[in-house]
This record gives sequence, structure tokens and C-alpha cells, in this order.
Amino acid sequence: MKDRYPRVEIDLVHLKHNVEAVVRKCGEIGIDIAGVIKGATGLPEVAKAFDEGGAKWIASSRLEQIRDAIDAGIRKPMMLIRIPMLTEVEDMIRLCDYSLESEVEVLKAADEEAGKQGKIHNVILMADMGDLREGFWDKDEMAQAALMVERDLKNLHLAGIGTNVGCYGSILPTVGKLNELVAVAEKIEAVIGRKLEIISGGATSSLMRVWDGTMPERINMLRCGEGILLARDLPLFYNCPQPELCQDMFRLKAEVIEVKDKPSHPVGDIGFDAFGHQVQYVDRGIRRRALLGIGKVDYGDPSELLPMEEGVEILGASSDHTIVDIEDAVKDWKVGDIMTFDVNYAILVYITSSRNVSIVFK
Ligand SMILES: *Cc1c(COP(=O)(O)O)cnc(C)c1O
Repeated sequence: MKDRYPRVEIDLVHLKHNVEAVVRKCGEIGIDIAGVIKGATGLPEVAKAFDEGGAKWIASSRLEQIRDAIDAGIRKPMMLIRIPMLTEVEDMIRLCDYSLESEVEVLKAADEEAGKQGKIHNVILMADMGDLREGFWDKDEMAQAALMVERDLKNLHLAGIGTNVGCYGSILPTVGKLNELVAVAEKIEAVIGRKLEIISGGATSSLMRVWDGTMPERINMLRCGEGILLARDLPLFYNCPQPELCQDMFRLKAEVIEVKDKPSHPVGDIGFDAFGHQVQYVDRGIRRRALLGIGKVDYGDPSELLPMEEGVEILGASSDHTIVDIEDAVKDWKVGDIMTFDVNYAILVYITSSRNVSIVFK
């Protein structure tokens, strides 16, 4: 099945280059990188690129992906970065050396389980600094939880604290925000009477503070996925230059299965599309269009696809078909031709987890 489509082609050499570049840049200012593999559904080859490129931890939101990384022979410490479900604590303790935590009940369960398994599990307590996803909002409550881990939960080690920004609340990792995090760490250090090893200052968006040289000194870990896997968001959204990074690690390729001239407006009484939406169609007359053998089940939202061929425009999709306008295309598209797309994070998470999309490494 070598020439099966659709497929995603992955350039592991460029990926590893990006890992090395980010690890080196961050290393210069004392920051270690947790390589976050969830953006590519934890493909073991991708996890290996993070490993070989020098990430200090391999991190994922999903235990299945961490298990795959271990099974692939990776010996780096594993980190669960979605705060754990109570029902996965047992597996977490077995598979992970580190986890991000924000609930006392879960910490107690993790301590008990670690005791049963004869392990010491490292925890990083999460502070919510305003992005309003996970983490302690009340920092006194957080300090008390830290003290509980330090004093009472003998099978847990309080490795440090961290925060996440820019995922739900779109909060920026400003110097002010990160200094607030350092202040929370110092408050906790005062309560427990020792220094914390780790202050984890966020994800890809915090790389901006590395590139522009304004990262507060005590931040010493970033958990980085997108900024290595795709390296698209920072230059695209924040005009943040990162000259050393490649952006061509993932290419989606789909096969043309029909090429015809058809009206651009549907003909007949209009109801709902396959997903129950009422769609507005623009009448541009008869136009040449191609159908591709890939659909929403493979990538989610067709409007997120990024065609790389000139004059190709996405019109829409159903579960298994994608419709593209090729009236103004430079190339004379034929059935059997292969169309290439660049991908963003939203597309990448789908295509790497769809079993209809084959994965090809180069
Ligand atoms: C997904 C995630 C990351 C990595 O985010 P990127 O933007 O891909 O770098 C880091 N930390 C947590 C808690 C996450 O959920």
C-alpha cells in the first residue's frame, strides 16, 4: 500500500533540526524543553525526533501516546500534561515520571497509587494566571496544596510549579505574567522552606520571550509542541521572527477523484448539508472543480486546509469528499493527480489520528 492516498508526509530530519534549534536557544538561558508530542498524535517517530533532538522530557496530554513512546524505546522521563482523570491515576503512575496537577483529591490518589507501585512520582502544581483552563486560581490554596505534597504525601515529589496560557483564554505570556508566576513560586518556596527545581513557564507562545530576550530568569522549563512541529503560529500571529526554524515538516496529499465543470450554486430546493448546517452558496456561474478523496472525518474543518498549488480554492467538504474550485488554477488538473496542502495545528491533530490517512516518513 505504498502509494496510498490521502497521506501525510513527515520530514523527520527537519523536525529534529527544529527540536535541536529550540533546545539550543532555550538552553542558552537555562531553559529545558519538554517535547510535546500530542500535536502529531504522539507518533513514535515524532516522539523519537523530540528525544534525539534533545528534549529533556517527552510530554503528552494522552497516556496512550506516552505508552507508545515508551514502547518505541524512548527512555526520557515522561510527563502527563493534561491534569489527570482520577480514573487514569494508576496508569499515569505506571507510565509517567512527571505530571501537571491542580486538584488535592487527585494528588492524594496519586500519592496512594505511587506508594502501591513503590514509586516516587514528580508533580508540577499548576497556577491559573488568567487563561482560565487548568490550575489553582486561589494561590493560598495552591501554597497549602504544595505544603501538603511536601510534608504529607511521601510518594510524591513537589518538583515545581507551572502555568499554561494562550489555550482557552488567549492570554499572552507577557513578562508581567511570567513574573507573577515567579512570584507565586517564591510564595510557595517561603511556605515549604526550600527552592523549587522547576518553574514551567508555558508552551510555544512563551518561546516569544526566549526569542526577544525578555524571559524572567527563574523560568527554566517550557513545554513545547506547535513551535517545533509546525513553527507557524509565532510568525503568523505575532510577527515573531524565528529564522532558524523549518516550517515544512508536514505535507498533506490527497488524490483527485473527479474533475468537471458544474454550476457553483446547488440546483434545487436547499435544505441542510451532511452535517446539519444551512450553508450559503455563492453563484459564480459554471466553474471547473475537482473532488478529492479526503473529507471532514480526516481533517475536521475544510476551511483550515492550506492549498499549496496556485489558483486552488477550497469550496467545502462532506465526510469523505473535499470539493475544490480549480477554475483559476495554473495546473490542468486531471483525475489521479495529487494535490498538496500545508497544515496548521487543527488539521495536523486530525490527519495524524485518522486511520484513513497513511503516514509516510522521509
Ligand atoms: C498542549 C500543551 C502544551 C503544548 O502546547 P504548544 O502550544 O503546542 O506548544 C503545553 N502545556 C500544556 C499543559 C498543554 O496542554
